[in-house]
Amino acid sequence: MKKLALHWKILIGMALGILFALGMVQFDWGPKFISDWIKPFGTIFINALKLIAIPLILAALVKGVSDLRDISSLSKMGLRTIMTYIATTVIAVSIGLAVVSMVKPGGTIAEDTRTELIEAYGGDAEMKRQDAQKQKDSGPLQALEDLVPSNIFDAASSNRNMLQVIFFAVFFGIALILIPEEKGATVKKFFDGFNEVILKMVDLIMLSAPYGVFALMAALVVEAPSADLFAALGMYAFCVVLGLALMVVFYIIMVKTFTGKSPKFFMNGIAPAQLLAFSTSSSAATLPVTMERVTEHLGVEEEVSSFVLPIGATINMDGTSLYQAVAAVFIAQAFGMDLTFGTQLGIIATATLASIGSAAVPGAGMVMLVGVLGYAGIPEAGLALIFAVDRPLDMCRTVINVTGDATVSMLVAKSQDKLGKPKAKNWDDHYDEVK
Ligand code: ASP
Repeated sequence: MKKLALHWKILIGMALGILFALGMVQFDWGPKFISDWIKPFGTIFINALKLIAIPLILAALVKGVSDLRDISSLSKMGLRTIMTYIATTVIAVSIGLAVVSMVKPGGTIAEDTRTELIEAYGGDAEMKRQDAQKQKDSGPLQALEDLVPSNIFDAASSNRNMLQVIFFAVFFGIALILIPEEKGATVKKFFDGFNEVILKMVDLIMLSAPYGVFALMAALVVEAPSADLFAALGMYAFCVVLGLALMVVFYIIMVKTFTGKSPKFFMNGIAPAQLLAFSTSSSAATLPVTMERVTEHLGVEEEVSSFVLPIGATINMDGTSLYQAVAAVFIAQAFGMDLTFGTQLGIIATATLASIGSAAVPGAGMVMLVGVLGYAGIPEAGLALIFAVDRPLDMCRTVINVTGDATVSMLVAKSQDKLGKPKAKNWDDHYDEVK
């Protein structure tokens, strides 16, 4: 019998997780059973993925940069990568703004629903606001200052500091290029081997993906807010999802136009990473799988993927920026505010920066949204309005964040002449090897 492809297994795991939880909530003891006995397996799965994010970035970037052999090709690729990332983010925010201005979801939300939401979620929203406040209390060059860690072990001790680890790895890689080849050979070999080991760890973890997502989805269902709230925020959620869907169309067009690869090839190649992004809500946790898919299945040479993807997971969040634009305008509409064209342009700029600054972990986009609201003079209390549906939207925007990174890596690879035939012939080839 032909074996089921990995994406089907993951999808079945998700569906069974949801069905199982829907069945369990019928019993009084059901939700507690899921929290106590099922959820931990989901947490273990995410932790295992996160566990390898920092070592992966370190190994992949040192290898990627030192493979380049000269500084000029590094700076050329670096510049291209950053420019393309910023361009796709600006397009994402613009799509978000266009959709929310046309659909006007904030207009349909009733006065008493608004009060109810603010009462129910005011406390949670306040916590996000305080998180954001901590970041805001700093000077204009704080982000630059934060880029350079004062201690690499300290930096590597938190997944939130991925940019600092990236900085160290690129710096290390550059120095490795600059020393005489025979002196650097052992170090380079070490990182090449280290990288291989980490990739094998990804394969092994992915074998448990269908069970991991089962647990994650089951836990999510029992923790979900009431269906009434979902309905009240339906139009807003619709706008975010519509905008995100348009982004997928945009990516597909870009891939087809610039690389000639078909939508089917692209979507098949990246699907497991997308499903994982959806279930974990974290681009950082998904990064190991994104790297594997892009390299083995989309034909991007490792030299490019190991440079472009870790940076993308940290700074390129098209889904997040689109969501921030929609959320900001939705809250403004709900409070009856009119936003001028100038303010909307400002939202494009602030949402782009806010998404760059968002950590690649669940819920980070909402913390950074506070900055966008603050800029546009939209009441921060409005965060309470969107809280109830944030998790499902976080899952969707993370899918787009990851898809955007994969798209840009293909475009950059093409422009560097580093887009070849995928190494894997079948869809889940790589995962079979470990069997
Ligand atoms: N969860 C998103 C990510 O990791 C960030 C966010 O929008 O909250 O990509």
